[in-house]
Amino acid sequence: MPDPTPFDATLPPLEGYTVRRVPGFQARKAYLCPACGSEIVTGVGHVVAWPDELAEQRRHWHLHCWRIAARRGRIP
Ligand SMILES: [Zn+2]
Repeated sequence: MPDPTPFDATLPPLEGYTVRRVPGFQARKAYLCPACGSEIVTGVGHVVAWPDELAEQRRHWHLHCWRIAARRGRIP
C-alpha cells in the first residue's frame, strides 16, 4: 500500500526506521520518551518510530529527541 504521508523535512529519517508524526489531537495517552526518559504529555504532538518490519517495537518520542537521535544516526 503506498504511503500517504507527505515528506516532512522537519521530521528527519533514520535508516532502518519508519517514523511518523502524531498530532496533538491524536495524542490521547501519555508516553515515556525512550531518549530522555521524560513523559510526553497527553495532547502534545510527538513522533512514533519503529524498526522497519517490527511495528510491535514502536516507541513514542519527543520531536526534538527524535531529531537529535536521527542526527546522530542511532537511537539510544
Ligand atoms: Zn524525549
